[in-house]
Amino acid sequence: MHNVTLIKGDGIGPSIMDEAVKVIDASGVKIHWEEAYAGMAAFEKFGTPLPDETMASIDKTRLAFKGPLTTGVGGTGFRSINVALRQKYDLYANVRPAKSWPGVKTRYEDVDIVIVRENTEGLYAGLEHYLTPKKDIAESLAVVTRTGSERIIEYAFQYARDNQRKKVTVCHKANILKYSQGLFLDVAREIAPKYPDIQYDEKIIDAACMHMVMNPHQFDVVVCTNMFGDILSDLTAGLVGGLGLIPGANIGKDAALFEAVHGSAPDIAGKNLANPTAVIMAGVMLLHHLGEHDAADRVQKAVEKVVNEGVFVTPDINPQSQAGTVEMGNAIVAALQ
Ligand code: NAD
Repeated sequence: MHNVTLIKGDGIGPSIMDEAVKVIDASGVKIHWEEAYAGMAAFEKFGTPLPDETMASIDKTRLAFKGPLTTGVGGTGFRSINVALRQKYDLYANVRPAKSWPGVKTRYEDVDIVIVRENTEGLYAGLEHYLTPKKDIAESLAVVTRTGSERIIEYAFQYARDNQRKKVTVCHKANILKYSQGLFLDVAREIAPKYPDIQYDEKIIDAACMHMVMNPHQFDVVVCTNMFGDILSDLTAGLVGGLGLIPGANIGKDAALFEAVHGSAPDIAGKNLANPTAVIMAGVMLLHHLGEHDAADRVQKAVEKVVNEGVFVTPDINPQSQAGTVEMGNAIVAALQ
């Protein structure tokens, strides 16, 4: 029996997480889901977006499976709980694979890109303030450390080697941000020669976005600092069929958290329209992490069958489809059995 902290999240979170848990349980792997709360759901229930009970659960399980959490925009509301969890458990590597699905119509076929995003520092280090009482000057600090850069760039190369990938591209802005981005690039150039079996490339982030849209096939594993990784992973989602399809793993030395790349999608919450694929594929990453490779492969095949057939899928995949979140989850369970 594995113990995993389950945070269903906000907006579409509970509905897609219910389908994901149903599918993972149907794989036969025994998981004790320890339900905990975070984000708006926690705020409403406990008066805080990150209750002590939730951290006590993750302290114990060191593993979380999480739905999206709503974070207010701008200076109002609480700080991102996603960022807080990544920093608290030092989940420094955010791995976000974007792979084409033969049954999902997009501009390109055979895209297969893994974004490895530094997850604890950069512009999301949380160091922000106003410089004047009138709040008319604001400052956000981008923190890049040698240690933080070394471990994420090593992670990207090692990931490439372990997963039979051929190339690592570092995306940066070292031409303008000569210190913070310059340090990240220097570290990449130092580490790359240690992996002669992996091709090394570097691209300035703005040009990288253009190249990714014009010819995504030149990218394999991409490594970058926090905010660039955040943006690039939505871009890669767009290349393979949208945010409903992309999972993410937040990996630290002794803890891990699995979730979708997408957010709580308030525009479609409560309408049975949300695609559960991204969180189910995050569940596949969780199963691999638990060493349950056979179950992970079976769940992945079941998801691929349903998505590629395009019948019992949510409208973001097939606008003609009458199926919703629940029907898609049921179809995946049926394919699994
Ligand atoms: P979003 O990812 O929630 O939605 C962007 C668009 O994609 C919307 O049109 C939405 O309907 C669509 N979409 C997202 N997931 C989908 C799914 N599973 N199936 C079908 N369509 C889907 O981004 P947003 O609207 O910018 O953010 C909403 C909230 O989510 C914000 O509070 C934001 O801070 C938060 N957020 C949380 C996480 C996280 O918890 N890891 C990640 C990103 C955003």
